[in-house]
Amino acid sequence: MTDAVIPLADLRYAAQVPLIPTLLPPATGLLSDRLGRPLRDLRISVTDRCNFRCSYCMPKEVFDHQYKFLPQTSLLSFEEITRCAGLFAAHGVEKLRLTGGEPLLRKHLEVLIAQLAALRTPQGQPLDITLTTNGSLLARKAQALRDAGLQRVTVSLDALDDAVFRRMNDVDFPVADVLAGIQAALRAGLVPLKVNMVVKRGTNDDQIVPLARHVRDHCGPGVVLRFIEYMDVGATNGWRMDEVLPSAQVRQHLHTAFPLAPLDPTAPGETAERWRYTDGGGEVGFISSVTQAFCRDCNRARLSTEGKLFLCLFASRGHDLRALLRSGHSDEQISAAIGSIWAGRDDRYSELRGLGTAVVGSGERRVEMHYIGG
Ligand code: SAM
Ligand code: SF4
Ligand code: SF4
Repeated sequence: MTDAVIPLADLRYAAQVPLIPTLLPPATGLLSDRLGRPLRDLRISVTDRCNFRCSYCMPKEVFDHQYKFLPQTSLLSFEEITRCAGLFAAHGVEKLRLTGGEPLLRKHLEVLIAQLAALRTPQGQPLDITLTTNGSLLARKAQALRDAGLQRVTVSLDALDDAVFRRMNDVDFPVADVLAGIQAALRAGLVPLKVNMVVKRGTNDDQIVPLARHVRDHCGPGVVLRFIEYMDVGATNGWRMDEVLPSAQVRQHLHTAFPLAPLDPTAPGETAERWRYTDGGGEVGFISSVTQAFCRDCNRARLSTEGKLFLCLFASRGHDLRALLRSGHSDEQISAAIGSIWAGRDDRYSELRGLGTAVVGSGERRVEMHYIGG
């Protein structure tokens, strides 16, 4: 089966309307792609808007007051998201991550979380529901999110020093409010909580040890700090390899302050390499998307804010599920289309980048991270 290409009203991102297979095989939960990878993790972008302008993601010069974000009518409704998530669960998805943009900007997000919390895997288990946030609104919303059924949260935090943090978010947002958000999330029971720090050489690499010390001293063992290599996602962040600080160097640097020892992975497809402080001070993670590709186990799909399915963070072309949702197709038809799309997947951008052979479709630009979600 091949996809039909249709013209789009919004040409920012190319997408195809999936063809519905003639036969409609029921979902078995055993779907795998062309490289034998199962489908386990669905990341859902609930908004393309954000109140930060991190230069590695939404640089101010591009995402200024003239930038046209998606209109409300383009966004998937909560009911559409939940319907999709249910179909993905039948195909084997066990984990949902809400992201964006800044997901806490989406009004009444707790209503969506309650709907998602009612979904079950084919074995009758609830899905693991989590959310990635910049933490700016977390102090206000943590308890309501927990009450609605959110289990865990990941907070992005690139510096402990207020001046460095304000420069990184580029909207002069104070770090104290994010730290308060983390404490509120811990009080609400959103644990284990992950803190993600994107490390940019020459920008915030002096924050590695201070942030690690803060998490050890003030957050307790329920919080795991993870260092992320600065990635070449999207087409607007002006990425340069010399600004990437490889995880191996971050780890060596941290090791001189707090000695570390490796830990075994807990799950296949895990993005972070896990290490522990030898003094019992907890665990840290390293996500080395640039220097150590982990495509071989990549079991993640991404659903964009307007319902396009992307098979890789570095894709330039999505599959327009919203078109199917809004044209009266049945669950069986959409499920079969999803199965067929995943079965055809052979994406492994980071591996190919490592081999020096990565390409995007000619004339197409890579999709932005705030649109498909990190
Ligand atoms: N706004 C939320 C936040 O910042 O947590 C959720 C969306 S954000 C796109 C998701 C994650 O992507 C964040 O942890 C962010 O730091 C990470 N990210 C964005 N651009 C990145 C880049 N160029 N390289 C590495 N990580 C990036
Ligand atoms: Fe916003 Fe998150 Fe992107 Fe920063 S990383 S600009 S907080 S979406
Ligand atoms: Fe998965 Fe694509 Fe990242 Fe590889 S580059 S790990 S296939 S999202």
